[in-house]
Amino acid sequence: MTMTKLKLDIQKLDPAELKKPPAPGQKLLFGQEFSDRMFIMKYTPRQGWHDARICKYGDLTLSPAALVLHYAPEVFEGLKAYRQPDGGVAVFRPRDNFLRMNVSAERVCLPQLNVDDAVYALTELLKLEQNWVPADEGSSLYIRPTMIGIDPYVGLKAPEEILFYIILSPVGAYYEHGFEPVSILVEDEYVRAVRGGLGAAKTGANYSASILAGQLAKKKGFDQVLWLDGVERKYVEEVGSMNIFFVYGEQIVTSALNGSILPGITRNSVLQLAKHWGLATRETRLDIAQITADITAGRITEVFGSGTAAIISPVGALYQADKAYIVGGNKNKAGKITQKLYDNLTGIQYGRIPDPFGWLLKL
Ligand SMILES: *Cc1c(COP(=O)(O)O)cnc(C)c1O
Repeated sequence: MTMTKLKLDIQKLDPAELKKPPAPGQKLLFGQEFSDRMFIMKYTPRQGWHDARICKYGDLTLSPAALVLHYAPEVFEGLKAYRQPDGGVAVFRPRDNFLRMNVSAERVCLPQLNVDDAVYALTELLKLEQNWVPADEGSSLYIRPTMIGIDPYVGLKAPEEILFYIILSPVGAYYEHGFEPVSILVEDEYVRAVRGGLGAAKTGANYSASILAGQLAKKKGFDQVLWLDGVERKYVEEVGSMNIFFVYGEQIVTSALNGSILPGITRNSVLQLAKHWGLATRETRLDIAQITADITAGRITEVFGSGTAAIISPVGALYQADKAYIVGGNKNKAGKITQKLYDNLTGIQYGRIPDPFGWLLKL
């Protein structure tokens, strides 16, 4: 049961000012179109969270001096709502996203959310915006909770004036051309995060640090980069903005959460599902030299990334220092366990198969 004391003001919108939700079959461009309404609330140390509202989606007004624009006190989340076979709507593990948001917020001196209030605000918003959850195969409604420090002050300090808001964007199927494996460049020059830094927080600054390497890799014809640790540049951390997994026959291995890796909810779901099937799982430090040797020797049979956007992304090949390491002998074909994880995770999310873990929150 959700326990909430949040006083929520719901602005009535004139039906004439509502936009048209995407029609069935309409092409959806990720992150470019947003629903009619958003949730927003404010925080100050004196008042706590206050002025919680569901209002018309629209621009924010900020001081040009706002802290977030200079020193990046910002954290965000990404989760999805899925259309169910009975026409209803379910959200995947929303509590876990708000719990993680609190961990991220603490790292950059932003305040804690009441998780019950945040889940309540999200479900009330989704109830009003249900018709924005597309029903096309593979489509969903992407949910972006965001928290920013907006004190109008160009001096460096911990933020005291905070905004938290949630916006919604319908998104089409990630795999338009089938479940295609990607090509990954092992990034030897740039790093995404270091232990003691921001790597375990979902904060925009990490993305700022990562865009250049991703762009250079794309210019060279790769889809994404594989990030190594920031100190020795030797241990595997993540792939693009996903967590990474290696399959050794019947064993599923991923990098241990070491403080510079983002603890993905999809990563956690993969581990739980694999254990549920009786597969061995291991979270450990992974040396890239060992990984490439194990791919070459055929000990690693599959590689994939995990994250809310793609859910599971098969990796066909790693490239390092002009050498190619083709996974499972065919860089164009996803492995069996990779495919099974994808089918089952998306099966649960879309309500096609039972949810033994209680991951779905139905509206
Ligand atoms: C969000 C994110 C992930 C994936 O997390 P999910 O909860 O599975 O979506 C992985 N790595 C980074 C850097 C991220 O920002």
